[in-house]
Amino acid sequence: MTTLPKSAQFVIVGAGIHGLSTAWQLAMALEARKRGGGKDIIVLDKTAPGAGASGIACGLLRGFYMTEAMHPLIRHSLDVWTYDRITFGFQQVGYVSCGEANQLPDYERIHRSQNANDYPSDLYVGGEAHKFLRSLWPDIEVNGIDVALHEKCSGYSGTRQALRGLAEKCAEYGVNIISGVEATGYDVTNGRVSKVRTNLGDIACDAVVLGLGAWTPKHWALLGRPSRIDCHYQDGGMVKDRDMWTYWRLVEAEVWIDEPYLTAQKKDPPIFKAELMNTPVVDPATGKQLGDSTYVYWKYAAERTRKPGLQGGGLPVKIGPEAVVDPYRHANDLYQPGDAWRDYFCAAMAQFMPRRFKDIRKNYIERKSGGIGAFTPDNLPILDWILPNVYMIADSNHGYKFTGVGKLVARHLASGERVGELQPFAFSRYAEGRTFGKTNSNSPWV
Ligand SMILES: Cc1cc2nc3c(=O)[nH]c(=O)nc-3n(C[C@H](O)[C@H](O)[C@H](O)COP(=O)(O)OP(=O)(O)OC[C@H]3O[C@@H](n4cnc5c(N)ncnc54)[C@H](O)[C@@H]3O)c2cc1C
Repeated sequence: MTTLPKSAQFVIVGAGIHGLSTAWQLAMALEARKRGGGKDIIVLDKTAPGAGASGIACGLLRGFYMTEAMHPLIRHSLDVWTYDRITFGFQQVGYVSCGEANQLPDYERIHRSQNANDYPSDLYVGGEAHKFLRSLWPDIEVNGIDVALHEKCSGYSGTRQALRGLAEKCAEYGVNIISGVEATGYDVTNGRVSKVRTNLGDIACDAVVLGLGAWTPKHWALLGRPSRIDCHYQDGGMVKDRDMWTYWRLVEAEVWIDEPYLTAQKKDPPIFKAELMNTPVVDPATGKQLGDSTYVYWKYAAERTRKPGLQGGGLPVKIGPEAVVDPYRHANDLYQPGDAWRDYFCAAMAQFMPRRFKDIRKNYIERKSGGIGAFTPDNLPILDWILPNVYMIADSNHGYKFTGVGKLVARHLASGERVGELQPFAFSRYAEGRTFGKTNSNSPWV
């Protein structure tokens, strides 16, 4: 039977990528400052590590963001992923993003900013892009691709391996991860949380960190925060009374492969992603148009598919301010992708690499692959204190790649000092005219 400690200096609620990464980094940061260590931290999860989005993510680390404030966070995440790439299962294969001419200025800005942030990438335009792509995938169909960005240090990891790895790091530093304990409420005394209430009793604490993924809106409400806010933008515009949280449904896909998926150099290929905003996806078998624009990505994924296979995804689908979060993951039938998505994904693969993938639809792994996420008003993370002793990591579903956020939050918690990289993501941005604006993409993730 689980015995709960009566108190802890830090209670972290949620053992996903953020809860675990923060716990491990905080243990190291406290030790380094001789202010304590892992024994001062407990992580609670109502189910177990990886029971949320972190356990089903596609597992990509990439830096393709039109919002430049994200680039320093990604750079820190790279440091964490490569800290122990064996334990985290990090495959540094690179990431290739392809676009049309309408996004060229965005690609140029991203390329400049990535390199300025010590995240090396190469930019290829027009014929150079085609030549570069064919050097990796000699069979690639380059029609419609005007620009390609190659992030040389990006990659992916298997989610099971990565979460096991983070939990192992926490255990090495003496962090207590307690599964099967649900935070049900918070005792607030003079504006501060004095106790976390759980299904197994109360835990007194000095500070709480929320790493709650899709459950964040529920705890936001439990802490009395508003369900609607006004958003003031950098250009002086304002949107009144926006939903604080919007759920989106993520669509993912898995396929088995009949032949090894390798580059011309017989290596694991970089993650491939293409957003062609003016190019429809057409079914190669029927000639039927399946979507009026293209957005697709994939990478090798035998960790999930159990035999050689690929995992990928496309644009998420907006649900709205309410969603049924439990049961989560593949257990929830409400948010699973249907046949239209399967056809679209396989047709897009065949469109880019017809020789390899023209018959891939027959290899589609017919099982549940959906999950939902809670997005913020501007679709970018909120990383901030939401009560004087409650720090919230609400990643707006960007977050599997963001292991570096835990490192920065830990530095802030252990030192009390301001951490510059986190500042653009403060909650106050909505009121203070620093709400992030829309980007030139159909995706909420760039
Ligand atoms: C299908 C899918 C694919 C994705 N692919 C990618 C990708 O390739 N790259 C990328 O960067 N991001 C990806 N994402 C987004 C990414 O997975 C999430 O942003 C990230 O995993 C969120 O991590 P988290 O730690 O905040 O939350 P979660 O991983 O959701 O963890 C929250 C934890 O809190 C626990 N919990 C909930 N309520 C309570 C409670 N009351 N008490 C105690 N514990 C509680 C849950 O059991 C859960 O384990 C994907 C998301 C989905 C759904």
